[in-house]
Amino acid sequence: MNIAVIKGDGIGPEIVNQALDVLVRAGEKFGFECKFTDVLMGGCAIDQTGVPLPEETLSVCMQSDAVLLGAVGGAKWDSLPGHLRPEAGLLGLRGALGLFANIRPVKLFSALSSASPLKLSTAETPLDLVIVRELTGGAYFGKRSTSTDSKGIKTATDSMTYSDFEIERLVRAGFELAMKRRKKLHSVDKANVLDSSRLWREIAHKVKSGYPDVEYQDMLVDNCAMQLIRNPMQFDVIVTENLFGDILSDEASMLTGSLGMLPSASLGGGSLGLYEPIHGSAPDIAGKDIANPIAMILSVSMMLDHSLAAAAQEGRKFKDAALAIENAVLSVLNDGYRTADLTADGVSAEKNVSCSEMGQLIKERL
Ligand code: NAD
Repeated sequence: MNIAVIKGDGIGPEIVNQALDVLVRAGEKFGFECKFTDVLMGGCAIDQTGVPLPEETLSVCMQSDAVLLGAVGGAKWDSLPGHLRPEAGLLGLRGALGLFANIRPVKLFSALSSASPLKLSTAETPLDLVIVRELTGGAYFGKRSTSTDSKGIKTATDSMTYSDFEIERLVRAGFELAMKRRKKLHSVDKANVLDSSRLWREIAHKVKSGYPDVEYQDMLVDNCAMQLIRNPMQFDVIVTENLFGDILSDEASMLTGSLGMLPSASLGGGSLGLYEPIHGSAPDIAGKDIANPIAMILSVSMMLDHSLAAAAQEGRKFKDAALAIENAVLSVLNDGYRTADLTADGVSAEKNVSCSEMGQLIKERL
């Protein structure tokens, strides 16, 4: 299997190195080999090539079975113009690969229930939902401009644009996922104010007629933000547009104890996908070997389950490897090992582990 690896900036290289070790171990155990090709994107690409997404990176990614990404960005590149910032590389890659659906599972491992800000009585019911976020449209891809008029008033505009086909394919992906899960889908919009949301709702209602077995509900985004705190267990699959999904999934991540726990898969029409943790490059802890590598390691598990299983003739072994990685993570957490982000409510010194120790423990357990 050919994997393009973008380590990126900040904690990116630290967590990706742990995830690759786990992947190699999974290959030894389940009988497959991966060829890794390191490519540049983000701040490190700007430093070395002058642009956030070099041509070579794009072409290696396009020819790979899957792309693994750590994270990009940092203060060093914040003052560059928008099209030259590290995030422009990520948006460009998602757009060029046609990755329109970002799948973000939010699962609270029982071992971490005390790290969740939820009251324990609530956290005892399993929290297991998936946010399906639209990834190549909306405000992040719409026309933007900043201008100053003759009176010196400065105005900035970002347009949130959606076409029917973009909404339809995303909502359909959500319904397909719901059919494999608890058959419940919330479509989140702001249809009481935004035209793009009114179109979203109209298309979602058309798609829902093809899935009579799925319990469907419209929900306004402000209500959804509140319901995620009040009763997140009511959700199974949430479909929503790009900006709303970005914010809601960071909010939902905290229900699992830490931003460092959540993996994601970005998928398009074929088997090629981009797998990355939902968090950023965490410059405040970069280089200290204290980052939580679990979101990155669970992203590898998603890569095995989706892209590699789909691209291979014998997909079963990749699905088995994906499950084994998830079980190894669970087992290490059940034994009480925690990285610094998960130790708020007290963990003994010998169970408080570094990024590399957590990676090593998961690899050994595998
Ligand atoms: P962030 O997600 O990097 O960090 C937010 C907080 O969570 C920080 O306190 C950080 O230390 C902590 N954190 C994040 N991941 C962690 C982990 N694995 N283990 C332990 N703690 C972790 O968000 P930010 O600080 O707003 O952004 C930093 C940079 O990352 C910015 O340049 C931003 O643009 C970029 N960013 C990149 C991506 C991406 O590459 N996909 C996503 C979001 C933000």
